[in-house]
Amino acid sequence: MEFKSKILEIKKCEDENNCFRIIKFEKPKDFSYQSGQFLMLACDDFKLRGNPEQLKWSSFSIASAPFQKYLELCIRIFGSDGLTNHLNSKKTGDTVNFKGAFGNFLLKDFKEISFVALGTGIAPLISMIRTLLNNGEKKPINLFYGFRNRCCFLYHEELEQMQKEHPNFKLNFVPSNPESDWDVPKGFVQDLIEKTDFSVPKNEVDFYMCGIPKALDAIKEFLIEKGFNSEKIFYEKW
Ligand SMILES: Cc1cc2nc3c(=O)[nH]c(=O)nc-3n(C[C@H](O)[C@H](O)[C@H](O)COP(=O)(O)OP(=O)(O)OC[C@H]3O[C@@H](n4cnc5c(N)ncnc54)[C@H](O)[C@@H]3O)c2cc1C
Repeated sequence: MEFKSKILEIKKCEDENNCFRIIKFEKPKDFSYQSGQFLMLACDDFKLRGNPEQLKWSSFSIASAPFQKYLELCIRIFGSDGLTNHLNSKKTGDTVNFKGAFGNFLLKDFKEISFVALGTGIAPLISMIRTLLNNGEKKPINLFYGFRNRCCFLYHEELEQMQKEHPNFKLNFVPSNPESDWDVPKGFVQDLIEKTDFSVPKNEVDFYMCGIPKALDAIKEFLIEKGFNSEKIFYEKW
């Protein structure tokens, strides 16, 4: 089903990297989805190259959770000629087109759950975390979040608040290239996972991961080597 929706808010990356946007827009009454799914987005003024009759559609994971009143996407700006860059010109009140929801990257029952987010790969995972915590989930939930620098630490205030309010939620983060005035250890999510004490045997921990394919493949390999269960590793690769 196809929808038209008004943009409610756009949050931009505030440093010179100009690397992401968080866009909130209206959720039509007859649109439903589950955490982990994605939608396809297009703008009336951005057509398919070589075919100006057709809109250029791109896929984006839904970062909001179904209980929230709006839809939210978390978008990395790629290059200068794609839809993500075109979204730069959009402002509150403008409309976007979307269709969906699509995808089978969905939560299953678990004993202990670990999320591995790389950059804007946080999008479908924060939707899942919002859903779990909002439903009163009490089983252990870990987030291993790797990103470049402070500017790319998306949702950090909300995640820190979640950790304060929910003793079963643990935020573990690591920048790969922190600003010189940010005194934190740098590294990769594998370093964080290595240091973690899980409350169930390793082969019973479920992993949900999202990010770029090459890095996710390396993390999956690492997890299997460390004794985690390959059948409990689920991912969305972009
Ligand atoms: C399931 C799924 C979920 C995803 N979720 C997210 C997410 O939450 N956040 C996120 O940041 N990314 C997400 N992505 C990646 C996203 O869909 C885009 O691939 C990515 O944002 C590329 O950005 P772009 O601006 O080049 O986009 P696009 O506009 O999709 O461009 C991609 C390619 O199309 C070409 N192109 C650009 N403009 C045109 C045009 N007018 N006509 C024809 N070709 C053109 C470009 O040159 C480029 O090669 C997801 C992908 C998938 C498959």
